[in-house]
Amino acid sequence: MIVGGGPIGAAIAIALQGSGLDVLVLEARPDAGSSNDARTLAMSYGSRLILERLGIWPQIEPVTPIESIHVSQRGGFGRTLLSAEDAGLPALGYVTRYSGLQHAFGRALVSERTRLMTGTEVTGMQSTAHRIAIEFLTHAGSQSIAARLLIIADGGASMGLRAGATVKVREYGQDAVVGLVETSRPHGRKAYERFTPDGPIALLPYESRYALVWTAAPDTADRLMALPAAAFLEKLQLHFGDRAGRFVSIEARARFPLTLRYAEDPVLPRAVMLGNAAQALHPIAGQGFNLGLRDAWELGETLLLHGKPDPGSDACLSRYRALRRPDRLRGIALTHSLVKIFSNDIVPLRAARGAALSLLELLPPAKRAFMQRMIFGASR
Ligand SMILES: Cc1cc2nc3c(=O)[nH]c(=O)nc-3n(C[C@H](O)[C@H](O)[C@H](O)COP(=O)(O)OP(=O)(O)OC[C@H]3O[C@@H](n4cnc5c(N)ncnc54)[C@H](O)[C@@H]3O)c2cc1C
Repeated sequence: MIVGGGPIGAAIAIALQGSGLDVLVLEARPDAGSSNDARTLAMSYGSRLILERLGIWPQIEPVTPIESIHVSQRGGFGRTLLSAEDAGLPALGYVTRYSGLQHAFGRALVSERTRLMTGTEVTGMQSTAHRIAIEFLTHAGSQSIAARLLIIADGGASMGLRAGATVKVREYGQDAVVGLVETSRPHGRKAYERFTPDGPIALLPYESRYALVWTAAPDTADRLMALPAAAFLEKLQLHFGDRAGRFVSIEARARFPLTLRYAEDPVLPRAVMLGNAAQALHPIAGQGFNLGLRDAWELGETLLLHGKPDPGSDACLSRYRALRRPDRLRGIALTHSLVKIFSNDIVPLRAARGAALSLLELLPPAKRAFMQRMIFGASR
């Protein structure tokens, strides 16, 4: 049983199609293919390879390639340019909207005839030695069902599915304000990541515009959300500078609170947490979905190889835990340290950050190693 038909729950369901395992997906939304979530996601080139193997890649549209990323800090020296050419890849990543991704996954779930129950909210679970039972609510009332393995891919939303797990939480005191901005200059498939003492700000090329991710303290985010468009653009110009040209319009503004939340151990008796259910990260390095997709792919591989006769056995889930540990822990640590090191105005740190960015620029092998880690994750 898979709780959550978001991108990661859907990815594992699709990875298990044809495995001979009997799979059921339970999704709270009434339609697994539609979403009104306004965020855009940068998918790494490594994610593209997984999505191709799942047969989903051609269905995701529109998708805009990122060919280079300009990284800098406000009020300090040091900058670096990461390019697809240096990485030896056609693109560093691709930008799409969460809703577009959800649409593609939703269609694949339905067309591939995965057993899918929508409008179904799972409220609790209970495991015994051989089964795990869940309770869920539908329009018809409360019901329960049991299986040998529960895959929790609910994005971290349901407390009733975390009983027994140790979950670490770090509040950043930052919110992300997102939107689509038009500039006076074409983006040329270049993304920008600029670190400021209030938090990072990113511009990702998306169709003819940029997807903006502007992190700020919650009270500043309140004000940014309330500003009329012209005043918002003025503030953005002051905050970001003129590297990308003049900001001329903003649409689809939305905001997301940012917290690091991760399970110390993603494996519970007869259950495993995947994607944001296992680790919800700050979007500073655009790693959340990419890490979650690698969770889904590797769980799929583990279940195909070791999931019979009992996919929820300790032996099978221990293999998955060991396989994912390095990538998970390094992804969490890298993202958390970037937030801590780059979101402040301490002078010696500013100088050290500048030196690190310049060093990356001067040492091509270090730059390549950094890009490999960001694109494909850590396997050892
Ligand atoms: C502003 C912002 C920008 C981001 N940018 C990037 C980026 O550039 N690159 C990147 O890699 N990541 C990024 N992320 C992270 C990325 O969005 C997440 O990692 C990804 O969406 C996780 O997918 P998921 O399927 O695990 O969870 P979700 O997307 O949260 O999906 C969970 C699903 O479970 C369902 N559900 C929840 N509770 C229940 C229940 N009790 N019963 C049944 N169903 C339930 C929900 O309806 C939903 O469909 C960003 C995040 C934010 C906030």
